[in-house]
Amino acid sequence: MTDTEYIRNLRTPGKEDPLRILMSACLTGVQCAYDGSDYGTYPGALKLLEYDNVVVIRFCPEAFSFGTPREMCDIYGGNGDDVLDGKAKVLAEEGSDWTAGMIKASEAMLALAQTHQIELAVMMDISAACGSQVIYEGSRFAENKVYQMGAGVCTAQLRRHGFKVISQRDFAALELLYAKIDKHHIIDAAKTDHHQTDWYQAYFKIEK
Ligand code: SF4
Repeated sequence: MTDTEYIRNLRTPGKEDPLRILMSACLTGVQCAYDGSDYGTYPGALKLLEYDNVVVIRFCPEAFSFGTPREMCDIYGGNGDDVLDGKAKVLAEEGSDWTAGMIKASEAMLALAQTHQIELAVMMDISAACGSQVIYEGSRFAENKVYQMGAGVCTAQLRRHGFKVISQRDFAALELLYAKIDKHHIIDAAKTDHHQTDWYQAYFKIEK
């Protein structure tokens, strides 16, 4: 089932039985980014905090394992699934191997998702932990930095266990989500998900 179909099929939540959404903590304004910021605000995601028929569970996997502030990290030799399978590594910008800590963080995030029986996760894209559509291949600080399609370690872990994950840049999916949460929300059909953007399609050479 696609993310779109899944969100269309979500139940209509009420105040007494709110929708349970797991979010990257930085998307909710928590200053847990590597530099102690929240990576700036993403209104489309922040808006989820405004509803009484939504419960947001927030978690920062990198802060859990490595603290804040910390070095930036990226995945080398594959994607989040490859890290979980022992075929790729997570390295901090100075070269320390953070693979084990990242896997531990993904397990903690999964445990939270299972405990709260979340119905959807909204995660910060591009992150080696939380990315869901696009991540870096190797260091983001490289002169010729390279993006790859794929998920970070925590998103891969959640998906392996059946959870749906969208990113803060999946604006079309968020529109559907808001229509589900708020009966007065009018869907903006012009919005697109990250993989539908001109940048994504040009970068990954996807034929329209
Ligand atoms: S993207 Fe994920 S790991 Fe990075 S700061 Fe946000 S919550 Fe933490």
